[in-house]
Amino acid sequence: MTERDVMDFDVVIVGGGPAGLGTAIHLANLIERHNAEVESTGEGEKLEPEICLIEKAAELGAHSLSGGVMDPKALTQLLPDWRTMEPPAPIEAEVHKDYVLWLSSKGGKKLPITPPPLKNHGNFVVSLNKMVGWLGGIAEEKGIQVFPGFPGAALQRDGNRVTGVQLVDSGLDKHGEKKGNFEPGGILAAKMTILTEGTRGSLTKQLVNDLNLHGKNPQIYAIGVKEVWEVPAGQCEPGLVVHTMGYPLDTKTFGGGWIYGMGKTDAGKNLVSVGIVIGLDSADPSLDGHRQLQLMKCNPKVAEFLKGGKMLHYGAKSLPEGGLYSMPTNYGDGFLIAGDSAGFMNSMRLKGIHLAIRSGMLAAETTFASLKSGDFSAAATKSYADKIKNDWCYDELRKCRNFHQGFHKGLLGGLINAGFAQLFGGKGAWFTDELKSNAGHTYMKKVSDYFGGKGKPEPEKLPQDGVLTFDKLTSVYSSGTMHEEDQPCHLVVSQPDLCATKCVEEFGNPCQHFCPAAVYEMEEKEGTKHGIDLKINASNCVHCKTCDIMDPYQVINWVTPEGGGGPTYTNL
Ligand code: SF4
Repeated sequence: MTERDVMDFDVVIVGGGPAGLGTAIHLANLIERHNAEVESTGEGEKLEPEICLIEKAAELGAHSLSGGVMDPKALTQLLPDWRTMEPPAPIEAEVHKDYVLWLSSKGGKKLPITPPPLKNHGNFVVSLNKMVGWLGGIAEEKGIQVFPGFPGAALQRDGNRVTGVQLVDSGLDKHGEKKGNFEPGGILAAKMTILTEGTRGSLTKQLVNDLNLHGKNPQIYAIGVKEVWEVPAGQCEPGLVVHTMGYPLDTKTFGGGWIYGMGKTDAGKNLVSVGIVIGLDSADPSLDGHRQLQLMKCNPKVAEFLKGGKMLHYGAKSLPEGGLYSMPTNYGDGFLIAGDSAGFMNSMRLKGIHLAIRSGMLAAETTFASLKSGDFSAAATKSYADKIKNDWCYDELRKCRNFHQGFHKGLLGGLINAGFAQLFGGKGAWFTDELKSNAGHTYMKKVSDYFGGKGKPEPEKLPQDGVLTFDKLTSVYSSGTMHEEDQPCHLVVSQPDLCATKCVEEFGNPCQHFCPAAVYEMEEKEGTKHGIDLKINASNCVHCKTCDIMDPYQVINWVTPEGGGGPTYTNL
């Protein structure tokens, strides 16, 4: 048995995105205010808890790609003077113009009206990479111990009570044998563990399954695939927000695209974020988010924004789209779950940063109460769920609770449903409080059913000129993704024999298509039933979790690799 160092903390936060940092900063503020009050009144006891935040990326922000639109509501609650702080909040631009483009394969038309959920006046285009770095600096200044490059491997549990986190071992070879530099992952013991790992967090997934914390509906996800471009000045003004619908997606596939005008970098580069979101509940076994983004950029209306520019960065991320009724129970003995891990995302507005920060703040308030009372049981942490219910974030989530599910009736059904939801507080076209749905992977059809018995057609060749469009490997290169090659594979396939047999026959190995980073490859292999077998290029993985979500047999388990591995999104 491996001996592990144990370090004692009062609070361990797993994940350094907006939710984790929102938790850390708000908790530090609450403690600071409490201690000041104790000092001035002489009443009560000061609190001096040990709080740490671990993050799997080598640096805060390295797994958060630039280019999103943020509703400032939660940031204003977290840091009321954020507009005048030093160093200044990294805002790229205030949104001054927004519209929706309906795309066909040859062109597109501006919609005469922008649907209310896609109106962005008063919001800000931000680089999440920079925002996370900025929030991290504030958290550290407030005394939070921030440990980047330390992924959590497993939760420590005593029955149903979470007692901390075991970190990932480093220095194991690909067979799991110890190398000369082996370091066992330490144990961070905690009275309260707060899971803010992002979408489909690996520790959260395990906990939700083990303790049966599932919501009424299974979570439904989407994949967002995006690029950041440098373009000539004046071609896409900072603060312009364009959403796209239609091409290249068919009417049965949920999704849409965006073009956001970002600001200028310190080096004077004019940046644009371009991307597409696609539901991971598609029937198409050949769905390929990377390919769809390349197709979208070939549309002349989109290409216009990128003309003469250069792609600087590529990345992908999954999003929790299921809404209110897909959220798991987010509290228990010694733990809370916030942000994307808990499903805090408004799919109708395509926004989650504000909900992530806000849920983190509410988790901080519950943790603060537990630190004062010494009670970390589920009876005490339930106050988190109560706080959410009485907060604006709950009202917002209620309004979009049936949004994504409506698109299971096709594009038209989904749009009508979204329109009704606007009028009837989220009820939608079927006037039901809750539209039922299944887990996304169950909607994938077998090749024979989807392609009508003709077999999977060869996809039409993309131009891939290396200027406007790129192959997957070139894109992965632009994500700066790196992993130690000689380590256990972090994509654990529990039944690998399925891939070269049943999956070839039924689904045509959809992992080759849905992975946006060319991690899964079916290579020729003599002696196998179909002459091919699965090869996993794990070092390409951009940590989007699509495979864990979309695999039709649910035999892929994404686990955290050695610390620091993954994309390196930089502070552009
Ligand atoms: Fe995403 Fe899985 Fe591919 Fe990694 S291996 S990039 S998590 S789909």
